[in-house]
Formats: sequence, structure tokens, C-alpha cells
Amino acid sequence: MPAIPPEAAAQLIEAGRRMDRFGWVPATAGNLSVRLGDGRVAITRSGCHKGFLTAGHVMAVDLHGRAEDPALRPSAETGLHCGVYRRFPAAGACLHGHSPAVTVLSRLAGPAIRLSGYELLKAFPGLPTHEASVAVPVLDNDQDIPRLQARVEQIWDADPAAPPGYLIRGHGIYVWAEDMPGALMRLEALEFMLACELEARRLR
Ligand SMILES: [Zn+2]
Repeated sequence: MPAIPPEAAAQLIEAGRRMDRFGWVPATAGNLSVRLGDGRVAITRSGCHKGFLTAGHVMAVDLHGRAEDPALRPSAETGLHCGVYRRFPAAGACLHGHSPAVTVLSRLAGPAIRLSGYELLKAFPGLPTHEASVAVPVLDNDQDIPRLQARVEQIWDADPAAPPGYLIRGHGIYVWAEDMPGALMRLEALEFMLACELEARRLR
């Protein structure tokens, strides 16, 4: 069983601290992963606080979420990370958090949240200007992760240009990019725009 490269664990530890600073991973919420290559993924283990990660909180799974070390239990949502890596060969990092803006707005939303006119939309591929808009899919929450992943696949099948992220109603957000800095930037951009949407609703 090959070891998890220390650089990969360090990226997850640092990203977890950053997400915690923003209040996006309360209690044991969230999970973070990076692709290691050779069909392996390093992902945070179940039940730990993402603001206080150590290398011991990181485990390796295959692209179907099976733990390399059978003594370790992967998080239930590992299947959603692996779904991203199976579908998008260029995806190198995937982040999941439970921010207040995501939780509140996803409960109020229909099948998608449309973001338009934001400068930060340029954090999304294929949108060179702030004049574009993005419809971020919102899926109903489901404890049955294979069933939830099947619904995510339906969205990707229906819209090959779907943005690299989605929300789960009353639960959280998934965002991915080619590497960890890219995934953090995209998550921050999306969280910022959703926080603005929440503020705008208060003013209405
Ligand atoms: Zn979650």
C-alpha cells in the first residue's frame, strides 16, 4: 500500500484551516480531497473537524471510494468526490462545505441558483466577463449517496457545460478544479456570490 504523499496531506490540512476560518465547516461538516494519480484519491476521514486536521485524518481511496486500508472508514460522501474524479479527468481537487449562505439559499431555491452580473463569475470556466451568468444546480438532499450521485450524473449528462460545482439542499456545496489552489479560489468566489445573494434578500 503506497503512502499518501505528505504534500497532498499538507494541502488538505491547509485548505481545511482556511475553510474553517470562514466558518464553512462547522463541527464535523465538510470533506476535502485531492487526486493522487494512478486512480487514487486522498480524502479527509469521517468525523473529524476540518479546522484541526492532521496527516492522520487523511486516507486514500480508489475512484469508487473503496478504502486502501480496510481498517479506515471513508466519509459517507466520499462517493460524491469520486464521482467528480471519474467524470472529469482534469479535476485534481474537490471541496465540500456547509456554509450558512449555502444552507439557507439552497433551502429557498428551485433546481438552480442563477448568479449574474458578478465580477467573480470569471472564476468559472468559459465565462470571460462579469456579464455572463451561471446557474448553479441545487439537488435535494439524500442520505443515499449512490442515488444522489446518480442525480448529479443526470445533470452532467443533460448539460455538458454545467458549472464545476453544485449545492445540496439544506446541506452544503461541492466545488472542484484542476488543483487545490484552483478549487479554493472557485469555492471562495462561489461562497462570496452566495453571501451577496443572501444579503440582497435581506434588503428586499
Ligand atoms: Zn456534507
